[in-house]
Amino acid sequence: MSEDFRPAVTVVEVGPRDGLQNEAVAVPLDAKVAFVDALAAAGVAAVEATSFVNPKLVPQLADATDLMRRIDRRPGVRCLALVPNERGYDRAREAGVDAIALFTAATDTFAQANVGTTIDGTFERFAPVAARARTDSVWMRGYVSVAFHCPYAGPVAPDALPPIVSRLLDLGCDEICLADTIGRAEPGEVKRALDAVFSVCPAERLALHFHDTSGNALDNVDAGLAAGVRVFDGAAGGLGGCPFAPGAPGNLATESLVAHLARHGYRTGVDREALMAAVAPILSRLRGASA
Ligand code: MG
Repeated sequence: MSEDFRPAVTVVEVGPRDGLQNEAVAVPLDAKVAFVDALAAAGVAAVEATSFVNPKLVPQLADATDLMRRIDRRPGVRCLALVPNERGYDRAREAGVDAIALFTAATDTFAQANVGTTIDGTFERFAPVAARARTDSVWMRGYVSVAFHCPYAGPVAPDALPPIVSRLLDLGCDEICLADTIGRAEPGEVKRALDAVFSVCPAERLALHFHDTSGNALDNVDAGLAAGVRVFDGAAGGLGGCPFAPGAPGNLATESLVAHLARHGYRTGVDREALMAAVAPILSRLRGASA
Protein backbone atom coordinates (compact mmCIF):
# COMPACT_ATOMS: atom_id res chain seq x y z
CA MET A 1 0.00 0.00 0.00
CA SER A 2 1.35 3.40 -0.92
CA GLU A 3 1.76 6.00 1.79
CA ASP A 4 -0.98 8.55 2.25
CA PHE A 5 0.56 12.00 1.94
CA ARG A 6 -2.68 13.92 2.34
CA PRO A 7 -2.70 16.34 5.30
CA ALA A 8 -4.26 14.86 8.41
CA VAL A 9 -7.30 16.15 10.25
CA THR A 10 -8.30 14.87 13.68
CA VAL A 11 -11.95 13.95 14.11
CA VAL A 12 -13.32 14.04 17.65
CA GLU A 13 -16.51 12.01 17.98
CA VAL A 14 -18.90 13.57 20.50
CA GLY A 15 -22.00 11.46 19.82
CA PRO A 16 -21.91 9.29 22.96
CA ARG A 17 -21.85 12.32 25.29
CA ASP A 18 -22.95 15.55 23.60
CA GLY A 19 -25.25 13.59 21.30
CA LEU A 20 -26.96 11.16 23.65
CA GLN A 21 -27.22 13.71 26.49
CA ASN A 22 -29.50 15.78 24.26
CA GLU A 23 -31.70 12.92 23.04
CA ALA A 24 -35.02 12.33 24.79
CA VAL A 25 -34.80 8.53 24.62
CA ALA A 26 -32.44 6.87 27.11
CA VAL A 27 -30.01 4.35 25.63
CA PRO A 28 -29.12 1.29 27.74
CA LEU A 29 -25.54 0.78 28.89
CA ASP A 30 -24.88 -2.24 26.63
CA ALA A 31 -25.83 -0.23 23.55
CA LYS A 32 -23.64 2.69 24.63
CA VAL A 33 -20.63 0.44 25.20
CA ALA A 34 -21.11 -1.15 21.77
CA PHE A 35 -21.46 2.33 20.23
CA VAL A 36 -18.25 3.71 21.76
CA ASP A 37 -16.31 0.57 20.85
CA ALA A 38 -17.57 0.64 17.27
CA LEU A 39 -16.71 4.34 16.90
CA ALA A 40 -13.17 3.73 18.13
CA ALA A 41 -12.89 0.76 15.76
CA ALA A 42 -14.08 3.01 12.90
CA GLY A 43 -10.93 5.08 13.33
CA VAL A 44 -11.92 8.28 15.12
CA ALA A 45 -8.95 9.78 16.96
CA ALA A 46 -10.94 10.67 20.06
CA VAL A 47 -14.32 9.85 21.54
CA GLU A 48 -16.12 11.97 24.09
CA ALA A 49 -17.64 9.01 25.87
CA THR A 50 -19.58 10.35 28.82
CA SER A 51 -19.83 12.93 31.57
CA PHE A 52 -19.34 12.68 35.31
CA VAL A 53 -22.10 15.18 36.08
CA ASN A 54 -24.45 14.70 39.00
CA PRO A 55 -26.46 11.59 38.05
CA LYS A 56 -29.54 13.11 39.67
CA LEU A 57 -29.39 16.06 37.27
CA VAL A 58 -28.52 14.14 34.10
CA PRO A 59 -29.89 10.60 34.51
CA GLN A 60 -28.96 9.67 30.89
CA LEU A 61 -25.31 9.71 31.99
CA ALA A 62 -25.67 8.07 35.41
CA ASP A 63 -23.88 5.00 34.00
CA ALA A 64 -20.62 6.91 33.38
CA THR A 65 -18.51 4.73 35.67
CA ASP A 66 -19.78 1.45 34.23
CA LEU A 67 -19.37 2.75 30.69
CA MET A 68 -15.76 3.80 31.20
CA ARG A 69 -14.93 0.46 32.81
CA ARG A 70 -16.52 -1.60 30.05
CA ILE A 71 -15.41 0.09 26.84
CA ASP A 72 -12.33 -1.06 24.92
CA ARG A 73 -9.46 1.29 25.63
CA ARG A 74 -7.81 1.16 22.23
CA PRO A 75 -4.25 2.46 22.11
CA GLY A 76 -4.19 5.67 20.09
CA VAL A 77 -7.85 6.54 20.67
CA ARG A 78 -8.30 9.26 23.26
CA CYS A 79 -11.32 8.66 25.40
CA LEU A 80 -12.65 11.86 26.96
CA ALA A 81 -15.08 12.37 29.78
CA LEU A 82 -16.63 15.64 30.90
CA VAL A 83 -15.87 16.64 34.46
CA PRO A 84 -17.80 19.54 36.05
CA ASN A 85 -16.24 19.57 39.53
CA GLU A 86 -13.97 17.73 41.95
CA ARG A 87 -16.58 15.13 42.85
CA GLY A 88 -16.89 14.33 39.14
CA TYR A 89 -13.11 14.22 38.88
CA ASP A 90 -12.90 11.66 41.70
CA ARG A 91 -15.49 9.46 40.00
CA ALA A 92 -13.79 9.82 36.61
CA ARG A 93 -10.39 8.83 37.97
CA GLU A 94 -11.85 5.85 39.82
CA ALA A 95 -13.28 4.73 36.48
CA GLY A 96 -9.88 4.99 34.75
CA VAL A 97 -10.37 8.28 32.87
CA ASP A 98 -7.12 9.85 31.64
CA ALA A 99 -8.52 12.67 29.47
CA ILE A 100 -11.12 15.16 30.65
CA ALA A 101 -13.11 18.05 29.26
CA LEU A 102 -14.02 21.22 31.13
CA PHE A 103 -16.80 23.57 30.03
CA THR A 104 -16.96 27.32 30.16
CA ALA A 105 -18.82 29.79 27.96
CA ALA A 106 -18.18 33.03 26.11
CA THR A 107 -21.03 34.85 27.87
CA ASP A 108 -22.09 35.10 31.51
CA THR A 109 -25.75 34.69 30.59
CA PHE A 110 -25.14 31.33 28.91
CA ALA A 111 -22.94 30.14 31.77
CA GLN A 112 -25.69 31.13 34.22
CA ALA A 113 -28.39 29.33 32.24
CA ASN A 114 -26.29 26.24 31.58
CA VAL A 115 -24.30 25.68 34.75
CA GLY A 116 -25.72 28.25 37.18
CA THR A 117 -22.70 30.49 37.52
CA THR A 118 -20.74 33.19 35.70
CA ILE A 119 -17.68 32.67 33.50
CA ASP A 120 -15.56 33.52 36.55
CA GLY A 121 -17.56 31.02 38.55
CA THR A 122 -16.78 28.22 36.08
CA PHE A 123 -13.08 28.96 36.49
CA GLU A 124 -13.40 28.85 40.27
CA ARG A 125 -14.90 25.36 39.92
CA PHE A 126 -12.24 24.20 37.44
CA ALA A 127 -9.18 25.44 39.27
CA PRO A 128 -8.95 22.55 41.78
CA VAL A 129 -9.90 19.99 39.11
CA ALA A 130 -7.27 21.31 36.70
CA ALA A 131 -4.60 21.37 39.40
CA ARG A 132 -5.23 17.72 40.18
CA ALA A 133 -5.38 16.81 36.48
CA ARG A 134 -1.98 18.41 35.92
CA THR A 135 -0.52 16.48 38.86
CA ASP A 136 -2.06 13.26 37.53
CA SER A 137 -0.90 13.93 33.92
CA VAL A 138 -4.51 13.84 32.78
CA TRP A 139 -5.03 15.37 29.32
CA MET A 140 -7.42 18.35 29.32
CA ARG A 141 -9.73 19.88 26.73
CA GLY A 142 -11.35 23.22 27.52
CA TYR A 143 -14.63 24.00 25.80
CA VAL A 144 -15.85 27.52 25.15
CA SER A 145 -19.60 27.26 24.56
CA VAL A 146 -21.43 29.91 22.50
CA ALA A 147 -18.09 31.14 21.14
CA PHE A 148 -19.75 32.89 18.18
CA HIS A 149 -23.41 33.46 19.11
CA CYS A 150 -25.27 33.23 22.40
CA PRO A 151 -29.01 32.48 22.52
CA TYR A 152 -29.38 35.14 25.24
CA ALA A 153 -26.68 37.75 24.59
CA GLY A 154 -26.62 37.58 20.77
CA PRO A 155 -23.44 37.78 18.65
CA VAL A 156 -20.21 37.34 20.61
CA ALA A 157 -17.48 39.91 19.90
CA PRO A 158 -14.25 38.20 18.82
CA ASP A 159 -12.40 40.23 21.48
CA ALA A 160 -14.34 38.40 24.20
CA LEU A 161 -12.58 35.13 23.36
CA PRO A 162 -8.82 35.63 23.94
CA PRO A 163 -9.11 36.27 27.70
CA ILE A 164 -11.20 33.11 28.18
CA VAL A 165 -8.91 31.01 26.01
CA SER A 166 -5.88 32.36 27.89
CA ARG A 167 -7.39 31.35 31.20
CA LEU A 168 -8.04 27.83 29.93
CA LEU A 169 -4.45 27.57 28.70
CA ASP A 170 -3.19 28.88 32.04
CA LEU A 171 -5.14 26.13 33.79
CA GLY A 172 -3.17 23.62 31.72
CA CYS A 173 -5.66 22.75 28.98
CA ASP A 174 -3.95 20.88 26.16
CA GLU A 175 -6.63 21.77 23.63
CA ILE A 176 -9.24 24.52 23.41
CA CYS A 177 -12.48 23.83 21.59
CA LEU A 178 -14.58 26.75 20.35
CA ALA A 179 -18.20 25.67 20.04
CA ASP A 180 -20.98 27.14 17.92
CA THR A 181 -23.53 25.83 20.40
CA ILE A 182 -26.61 27.24 18.65
CA GLY A 183 -25.42 26.73 15.08
CA ARG A 184 -25.58 30.38 14.06
CA ALA A 185 -21.97 31.08 13.09
CA GLU A 186 -21.04 32.07 9.56
CA PRO A 187 -17.63 31.52 7.97
CA GLY A 188 -16.62 35.19 8.24
CA GLU A 189 -17.41 35.15 11.95
CA VAL A 190 -15.36 31.99 12.39
CA LYS A 191 -12.42 33.63 10.67
CA ARG A 192 -12.65 36.78 12.81
CA ALA A 193 -12.97 34.75 16.00
CA LEU A 194 -9.94 32.64 15.09
CA ASP A 195 -7.89 35.71 14.16
CA ALA A 196 -8.59 37.09 17.63
CA VAL A 197 -7.86 33.80 19.42
CA PHE A 198 -4.58 33.29 17.54
CA SER A 199 -3.19 36.22 19.54
CA VAL A 200 -3.13 33.91 22.57
CA CYS A 201 -3.35 30.35 21.23
CA PRO A 202 -1.74 28.66 18.22
CA ALA A 203 -3.94 26.89 15.66
CA GLU A 204 -2.37 23.54 16.66
CA ARG A 205 -4.07 23.70 20.04
CA LEU A 206 -7.51 24.67 18.78
CA ALA A 207 -10.50 22.55 17.88
CA LEU A 208 -13.84 23.61 16.41
CA HIS A 209 -17.26 22.25 17.26
CA PHE A 210 -19.95 23.19 14.77
CA HIS A 211 -23.68 22.67 14.68
CA ASP A 212 -25.54 22.50 11.39
CA THR A 213 -28.68 24.28 12.61
CA SER A 214 -28.37 26.97 9.92
CA GLY A 215 -26.73 24.71 7.33
CA ASN A 216 -23.34 26.42 7.73
CA ALA A 217 -21.37 23.72 9.51
CA LEU A 218 -19.27 22.53 6.57
CA ASP A 219 -18.60 26.09 5.34
CA ASN A 220 -17.44 26.87 8.87
CA VAL A 221 -15.18 23.80 8.82
CA ASP A 222 -13.66 25.22 5.63
CA ALA A 223 -13.08 28.56 7.36
CA GLY A 224 -11.33 26.69 10.18
CA LEU A 225 -9.21 24.67 7.76
CA ALA A 226 -8.21 27.82 5.86
CA ALA A 227 -7.08 29.35 9.16
CA GLY A 228 -4.99 26.27 9.99
CA VAL A 229 -7.22 24.44 12.49
CA ARG A 230 -6.94 20.66 12.12
CA VAL A 231 -9.27 19.30 14.84
CA PHE A 232 -13.04 19.14 14.32
CA ASP A 233 -15.87 17.61 16.31
CA GLY A 234 -18.73 15.60 14.93
CA ALA A 235 -21.53 13.43 16.27
CA ALA A 236 -22.21 10.26 14.30
CA GLY A 237 -25.70 10.37 12.84
CA GLY A 238 -25.98 14.03 13.87
CA LEU A 239 -27.04 12.81 17.31
CA GLY A 240 -28.28 15.36 19.78
CA GLY A 241 -30.40 17.71 17.75
CA CYS A 242 -30.53 21.35 18.73
CA PRO A 243 -31.76 22.10 22.25
CA PHE A 244 -32.51 25.70 21.20
CA ALA A 245 -34.50 24.82 18.07
CA PRO A 246 -36.50 21.61 18.49
CA GLY A 247 -36.39 19.46 15.39
CA ALA A 248 -33.51 21.39 13.81
CA PRO A 249 -30.10 19.83 13.17
CA GLY A 250 -27.59 20.23 15.97
CA ASN A 251 -24.16 18.63 16.00
CA LEU A 252 -22.51 18.31 12.62
CA ALA A 253 -22.85 14.65 11.58
CA THR A 254 -19.44 12.98 11.70
CA GLU A 255 -20.15 11.08 8.47
CA SER A 256 -20.75 14.41 6.66
CA LEU A 257 -17.58 15.87 8.18
CA VAL A 258 -15.49 12.85 7.18
CA ALA A 259 -16.85 12.80 3.61
CA HIS A 260 -16.32 16.55 3.26
CA LEU A 261 -12.73 16.32 4.48
CA ALA A 262 -12.00 13.42 2.12
CA ARG A 263 -13.41 15.39 -0.84
CA HIS A 264 -11.10 18.27 0.03
CA GLY A 265 -7.99 16.12 0.20
CA TYR A 266 -7.64 15.54 3.94
CA ARG A 267 -7.23 12.18 5.61
CA THR A 268 -8.97 11.39 8.87
CA GLY A 269 -8.36 7.67 9.26
CA VAL A 270 -12.11 7.23 9.74
CA ASP A 271 -13.87 4.46 7.82
CA ARG A 272 -17.17 6.09 6.90
CA GLU A 273 -19.01 2.79 6.38
CA ALA A 274 -17.87 1.56 9.79
CA LEU A 275 -18.91 4.87 11.34
CA MET A 276 -22.41 4.63 9.91
CA ALA A 277 -22.66 1.00 11.00
CA ALA A 278 -21.62 2.12 14.51
CA VAL A 279 -24.47 4.62 14.80
CA ALA A 280 -27.18 2.65 12.96
CA PRO A 281 -28.36 0.68 16.03
CA ILE A 282 -28.51 3.89 18.07
CA LEU A 283 -30.48 5.74 15.40
CA SER A 284 -32.99 2.93 15.06
CA ARG A 285 -33.42 2.90 18.84
CA LEU A 286 -33.92 6.69 18.99
CA ARG A 287 -35.88 7.32 15.83
CA GLY A 288 -37.42 3.99 14.89
CA ALA A 289 -36.29 1.45 12.33
CA SER A 290 -36.90 3.83 9.41
CA ALA A 291 -34.11 6.24 10.51
MG1 MG B 1 -22.70 20.05 20.34
